[in-house]
Amino acid sequence: MAGETATARPPESRAQPRRLRSLRHVPVSRLSGVGPRRAAALGRLGIDSVYDLLWHVPRRYVDRTRQTPISELNGVNLEEGEELTIIAEVDRTSKRQIRRRLTLNEVVLSDGSGRLTAKWFNRPGLMRGVEAGATVAVSGKLARFRGRPQLEVSALEVVDAGRAGADTGVVVPIHAAAADVPPWLVRELMREALDRTGELLDPIPPHLTRRYGLLSRTDAFRMVHFPPDLASARRARDRLVYDELFLLETALAMRKVSLDASSFGRSNPPGGALWGELASRLPYELTSAQVRALREIGDDLATERPMHRLVQGDVGSGKTVLAAHALLAAVDAGAQGVLMAPTEVLAEQHHVNLRNVLDGLSVEADDNLLGTRPLAVEILTNRTTGAERERLLSAAAAGEVDILAGTHALIQEGVHLPNLGVAVVDEQHRFGVHQRVALRERGDPTTAVPDVLIMTATPIPRTLAMTLYGDLDVTVLDEMPPGRRPIETVWVAPADGDLGGVWAHVRAEVDAGRQAYVVCPLVSDSDQTEAASATATHEELATGVLAGLEVGLLHGQLRPAEKHDVMAAFRGGAIQVVVATTVIEVGVDVPNATVMVVLDADRFGLSQLHQLRGRIGRGSHASTCYLVADPTTPEGRARLEAMVETTDGFVLAERDLEIRGEGTVLGARQSGVSDLRVTRLVRDVEWVQRARTDAFALVETDPELEASPLALLREEVFDLVGDDVDWLLRS
Ligand code: ADP
Ligand code: MG
Repeated sequence: MAGETATARPPESRAQPRRLRSLRHVPVSRLSGVGPRRAAALGRLGIDSVYDLLWHVPRRYVDRTRQTPISELNGVNLEEGEELTIIAEVDRTSKRQIRRRLTLNEVVLSDGSGRLTAKWFNRPGLMRGVEAGATVAVSGKLARFRGRPQLEVSALEVVDAGRAGADTGVVVPIHAAAADVPPWLVRELMREALDRTGELLDPIPPHLTRRYGLLSRTDAFRMVHFPPDLASARRARDRLVYDELFLLETALAMRKVSLDASSFGRSNPPGGALWGELASRLPYELTSAQVRALREIGDDLATERPMHRLVQGDVGSGKTVLAAHALLAAVDAGAQGVLMAPTEVLAEQHHVNLRNVLDGLSVEADDNLLGTRPLAVEILTNRTTGAERERLLSAAAAGEVDILAGTHALIQEGVHLPNLGVAVVDEQHRFGVHQRVALRERGDPTTAVPDVLIMTATPIPRTLAMTLYGDLDVTVLDEMPPGRRPIETVWVAPADGDLGGVWAHVRAEVDAGRQAYVVCPLVSDSDQTEAASATATHEELATGVLAGLEVGLLHGQLRPAEKHDVMAAFRGGAIQVVVATTVIEVGVDVPNATVMVVLDADRFGLSQLHQLRGRIGRGSHASTCYLVADPTTPEGRARLEAMVETTDGFVLAERDLEIRGEGTVLGARQSGVSDLRVTRLVRDVEWVQRARTDAFALVETDPELEASPLALLREEVFDLVGDDVDWLLRS
């Protein structure tokens, strides 16, 4: 080997192992047979580079040795209802409209031993690429129809289009594919990519790979795509899961260690005059969970170590009052507080609530001669423009604004809070790490790092919270304020009749002095069409079944001032029913609202439905949530059933994972976890814990990974956090 000369090697092979991330810069168009059209189709699958391709691991595998020949499906040892998978050739296909919204799809399969009909309802996407001559892998339940075996399909994938599966081994990898990128092409490209890539450098310290008997990175990529048997596929997957989790956890560990070591914070002790005043003004007793949370927050505020705490509490658990206390601790300490919310509606609401509860309070003026001045609670959103914006920004910069609520507008250029003591981020799941950091930087970086409090309603199991927010301390609010009346959830199928009963109930509640939300269907990703649909629904209801009531309209395309007016009128009771898009999804708090009607509810995700429903059941009156839907998919049906069954956010989150089987459902999209390509958080909890322990142990001994064997790890971690590298390091 050592004797070989460079010219004797095939041009693409390399003697030197290479960096995996160098493949990010190799576009898929460098692979054989990939022209602009195929490159675009691969791009739609999320595959732009060879790096993306290698991480495009099979969705599942089918083991040919464990298949049942079709001729044996009549055998006595196979029960009806048994789950099985077969790989077979398609003889013919058919599609029939049974009734409105119900299509029966049939595929006749043969495998040389016999013939079998596989069938399913609706789900037109499953038929894509299914043609006579294609080889498909079909999973489903065995059923009998007029004495003959049939398969009720749950999953179906085209393995080969008329190529009889010749290029697969005993284990058939099923890669996600698309119309223009059939599975055989994915496999061909994968083979070439693996060959030309050769050996990969491995960033994981050898003592860790040894600890778990992990494959090398090179072997893991080879075997995950083309495993000789299922056990190898599992080992390969384990290595890749550990690989990505270890990198993420190392980044989080570095971040936490650097924050903890920072003596650059400031103390905003709890229990000052304003803090005490707020506590005495509350119209209710804090729950014991709130008391505990406040103590933890207070302890953080008291020290000079910058607070970096996440409060996780289900919708309605009472997080806002914690934020208010923290903000006042800053003001009590002579500093400023800022509260960032994800929507204008929510920012306004925080602003109004804070103003109300803090009404009439004053602070010491900077200028002793003036004695005191009123506590200044202001709001900054995109609605704040022109002279008003100028005035506000210069007042903030002069330290004359004590508490500033707002939206993303807070983290724009020109916003300076020289004396920033506490920054609160509400409903964190809507923001990314970047915005969290940007908010903190509104303060004067040369004075002190503010205390940061993050609040989220995303109900995630604690171990997962560690992964998502591994650099944060976590407080869980696991108790609801007392006196809440349970929300009754009713699923109404419009096909069963008209919605007369639903609208009659809305009227009855309004007559009794209550208010209602009507949530319009999700139309598409475009705000514009969504707004149009909301407008049409509003028109229809206001002139039809809800005629005579004060019906308002709220959607994302309204001008900020209009949104503000509608919400203010709804809050004040002048509007009785508000027809809205998901603008009202997070945080909106109108305790007098007791009915919600969600139209086409099956189009929403489970966590979104949970957030929406959280807008009612906030006061002392009983509430009802109507989910109007005629779901066309089993998943849609399962979501509605889950909603009817429980209001517990944690239970729903787990159900959501079962239904979707993905870790990204939990609002994790922006937290770094979206970068996980192979890991499924719930399934891989054990690996999360291992990676976390290992990463923190490593970073404890070498906080900035300066030892030379860690050079590649350091490089990859820096690469992972991109522009935010500086927040991994001290000083
Ligand atoms: P979330 O955690 O969803 O942000 P909020 O802070 O908006 O919840 O609180 C929901 C409602 O519960 C508000 O109307 C609030 O005033 C009320 N609330 C909060 N804490 C308590 C409590 N301890 N007892 C009674 N009501 C409370
Ligand atoms: Mg809230």
